[in-house]
Parts: sequence; structure tokens; C-alpha cells
Amino acid sequence: MFDRSIPVIGFHTLVDSHEGIEALIRLMEEALIPKGVNTLIAEMRYEFRCFPEYSSGKVTYEDASRLADVCEKHGVRLIPLLPSLGHQSASPAGTPLPLLEKHPEFIENPNVSKDATWPEIYHHSWCASNDGIYEYFFPMMDEIAEATRCEVFHVGLDEVFDIGMCPRCKDKSPAELFARTVKILHDHLAEKGLEMMMWGDRLLDSISMGYQMWEGDRFGMHPALHMKDMVTRDIMICDWHYDLHSAGYPSVETFIKEGFFVMPSVFHVADNAEHFWTHALEAHYLTKRYNWPGRCGGIVFTNWTCLTNEYVDNMLKALRGEEAGDDLDAMVGKVIVRLEARARKFKQWN
Ligand SMILES: [Zn+2]
Repeated sequence: MFDRSIPVIGFHTLVDSHEGIEALIRLMEEALIPKGVNTLIAEMRYEFRCFPEYSSGKVTYEDASRLADVCEKHGVRLIPLLPSLGHQSASPAGTPLPLLEKHPEFIENPNVSKDATWPEIYHHSWCASNDGIYEYFFPMMDEIAEATRCEVFHVGLDEVFDIGMCPRCKDKSPAELFARTVKILHDHLAEKGLEMMMWGDRLLDSISMGYQMWEGDRFGMHPALHMKDMVTRDIMICDWHYDLHSAGYPSVETFIKEGFFVMPSVFHVADNAEHFWTHALEAHYLTKRYNWPGRCGGIVFTNWTCLTNEYVDNMLKALRGEEAGDDLDAMVGKVIVRLEARARKFKQWN
């Protein structure tokens, strides 16, 4: 069981190669673990043994196992991430990932050219009514869970735009389609003795909360938040917001009141990250004061570029407080430096 009494000081990253895994290990050992990071969410572009033809990258079973060894040695909780439902595109966005490309019957909106980009399409989704997808997706999840020896699996579920569009789905409620997908993934993990983590954005009403349509939902999925028998409260939620919202971030409080273990998740702009975390601490205070059922479970720093040695070199410079410029690598490093002391303090308060 994942020990929820230990607040998460988390780092999320994309990684797509052997070199990237080695660079990640260096980053963890040289800087992030000494700075208090105790949880690693690894979104691996992976070379599957079960379905080599549907691989999305070059991270192998051996790479993932080596990462697990290193995490175990340092007492870091390793949580693998495999995007489900949405984020099923390669590049450009009109090109589906190999699984959907070879099985177009799983694509929710196939009427998009392969070279299409935003705003013609954001990302492909799989069809939430065609459960044939799980004949492929479950073995993929299981393989990654085995390689990483994880206790928690992050299933993504963020930024789903294509839902309720295909002939099979168009008369169904997007919220129910989303909630049943959550339940199917959750129950598969539970059968394996694993807990589930997901991004929270599809459960948020973007309009009433003042969020944009990536960090909140505009396509009818958010009522799934209240479908408690499907979106069960044992799920851990990463509530990400990368823009600055001057009136605050009502989602943190909402998730806590609903009973979730929620982790505010930040990205590359230090001022925005600090603003979000300051507001999250208000929610943490109110939770204790009013005995709300959930809790703020920590913070997750995210990185949305696949790691290379060069990227990590510059990020390490920023993490050491050296001049590192303003590229993303340096910016992500600076966010951690800015919030490090307060994240540690949060760890002590809990
Ligand atoms: Zn469909």
C-alpha cells in the first residue's frame, strides 16, 4: 500500500529512451532526492514486450526495472504513467499512436487527416464505448507495472477533447462515458492490488471555476466528479494548473471536500507555481479547520520535455542556483528551487 501519511514531494517527467532513463537517474541522485523529492511519476514512452508493434518509445523493460532499483535504494516511490483515453496522438496531432493507427476502429474521431494540428485537432482519444481497447491496453499497463514494481499506477486521463463523437457514443452522456472508463481502469488495477492516480482536469467545470479548457472540462465530462460509485474516492488526483489564476484555484478545495487525496501540480513558471501552491496551502489549512474528508497530499513538479543528458545538465545548473538561462530545462529547475523550502515545510506539518 502507498503510504498516504507521507506527503508527496513529487517529480513528474516524460522520458522516451535509455539515455533519458540514465539522465533521469542522474537528476534524481544529484539534485532531486537531496532536495526532498520522494515520489517519481515516470511517463515513459515505452517499447512493449507484449506488443512491440505498438511501442510509443524506446524505454525498455530493463530500463524501467533499473529505474525501480534506483528508486527503491533511495526510498522514492516510483509511479509509472501510461496515458489512457485521451493523449493518443503521436506527432503531428492528427497521427494516432501506433495502437490506434493499426486499429482505426478504436479512434473516436477518425475524420481527421494525419497531418492535422491544433486547432483542427488537439489529440486523438480512443472510443469510450469500444472495450476492445482493453485487450491491448491492460497487458501494456501490466507489463509496465511489473517492470517498475509499483504500488500506484497513473493512468493519465487528462485533456480528453474527443468524446461522445462517434456513432456509438454520440447519444451517450460524456460524463458517463468518462466515469465508466475511470471505473474500468480502476477495477483492473485493484484486481492487481494497485492503486490509481490520475490527472483531475476532466472532473472540473472549466466555466464555473474560471479555468481554460485544458485544465478544466468544456465537453460535458465534469459531472463525472459526482458519480461516486464510478469515480471512487480512493483515487489519487493530480490537480494541475500552470497558468496564474488571480482569483485562486477552487479545484483543490473541491477535490478535498469530495474526499480525494489531491496533489497540486505545477510546471515551469516559478511565479505561477508559487501562486498556486500558496493557494493550495489555504485549502490545506481549511481542511484541518473544517474537517473536510480529503486532504492536500503534497505537490508535484512536472516536466513536459523528454529528458536528454543536455537537458538534465542545464536543469542541474538551475537546481544548483547557477546561471542556466530561460529555456524550459532551467525554468523547471528554478520552480523546484523556488518552492523547495515550502515543500519541505509542508512535509513537516503533516
Ligand atoms: Zn465512441
